Amino acid sequence: MSSEVEPSSAPQITSTPAAIDLPAPAYTLTAVYDDARHTLSALEEIAYTNRSGESIAEILLVVDASVYPGVFRLNAIESSQGPAVTRTGWERIWLHVGLDRPLAPGEVIRLSLDYELILPARIADASLRPMVFGWSERQINLVDWYPYLPPYRPGQGWLVHPPGFYGEHQVYEASDFTVNLQVIHAPAELVVAASAPERREGEWRHYQLLQARTFALSLSPLYQTVTRQVGGVAVNGYFFPAHRIAGEAAVQTAAEALELFGNLFAPYPRETLAVVEADFLDGMEYDGLFFLSNGFYNLYSGAPGDYLVALAAHETAHQWWYGLVGNDQALEPWLDEALCTYSEKLYYESRHPEALSWWWEVRVRYYQPRGFVDDSIYNPHSEAQAYRTYRDAVYLNGAIFLDRLRQQVGDEAFFAFLKDYAGRFSKQVATGKDFFRVLRAHSSADLSGLLGEYFQSTP
Ligand SMILES: [Zn+2]
Repeated sequence: MSSEVEPSSAPQITSTPAAIDLPAPAYTLTAVYDDARHTLSALEEIAYTNRSGESIAEILLVVDASVYPGVFRLNAIESSQGPAVTRTGWERIWLHVGLDRPLAPGEVIRLSLDYELILPARIADASLRPMVFGWSERQINLVDWYPYLPPYRPGQGWLVHPPGFYGEHQVYEASDFTVNLQVIHAPAELVVAASAPERREGEWRHYQLLQARTFALSLSPLYQTVTRQVGGVAVNGYFFPAHRIAGEAAVQTAAEALELFGNLFAPYPRETLAVVEADFLDGMEYDGLFFLSNGFYNLYSGAPGDYLVALAAHETAHQWWYGLVGNDQALEPWLDEALCTYSEKLYYESRHPEALSWWWEVRVRYYQPRGFVDDSIYNPHSEAQAYRTYRDAVYLNGAIFLDRLRQQVGDEAFFAFLKDYAGRFSKQVATGKDFFRVLRAHSSADLSGLLGEYFQSTP
């Protein structure tokens, strides 16, 4: 297995402490969703402060929706503060926005975009990866539904990667979101699940989510709901009819995991968490909201040793490993996926030790996982089972690696390290180098043998 395909010059992300004093990117989205036509008209205002310490010659916007032909239409883009917009040009899913002069360090640019989405129909095709974005008869999902700015690295520019065949390619800066949504031509029983609590005002729904990677929405006229309070957090479950038992189990697990991870890693920073049954066969994490495959709801056995339970814990852990602590999901997916898979084990240890052997044998060892943990999403695994090869290496072997790491440094150092790592890189984008730098502050154990076994490049 080699990693020569994706540009091996993986950008070295370092947090820029000087930038912390300047405001994070802020997005205000005012959108009307027409449920009869599956279209969305949006006005987006972006306030972006240049925190890079160098002049930025042009703005880059990531438009993930544009990966689907005919879905995204930009009507207008202009600047109301800072450099003026001179031209725009597309490159893959990126919109280059030319400026009449560079954006100076510390300077603010305010962009206004007027755009429309014609949501794609989600087609279940076993030969393709399941789609999250778009509509089906049972569920409309608005995920990565607005243009956003990727992180900007001094000397390197905008940090973007093209979509891969599997895995996520996005790198997100922690940003503030204000969302105003009106839904028209929808059945009265339509339920809206969102990344943040809803405030209703007539026909409008208002949301605010601060210091988040993403803002996601999921709509369905069929959703049944269940809520469980944990501390000050409302864990809200949304599931399809006939899945009440599984829907309640998913929320129960998410609430328990949220409490546990809040103690082990860092306090959960939000008022709500939405646990949404996916109308597709996959799970997917967003800030304040995640999807769980309906396959797990269909097959839920009622026992704790069950994929519904394991994956509800996994997706909840993404609120820390992805949400609170960001990472480059394309080049270093192990930083969130291995940690979330291992967090499943932490959940079982604490809440269902009787099912720990199920977790090891059925969830992990059954697949005889192998492969380097620091695989990227671009490795051209030639086998037919390319996704499985990636998953086995990054998720499963990643969890085995973390368990061996824990044994080597000891529980005290391991858990102190996790807390320290979560705290130091909260609202930042961490790298593998950051991970090991913090780890070495907690343990002087010689890790060279372990790293040689599980990592292809020296972290
Ligand atoms: Zn995951």
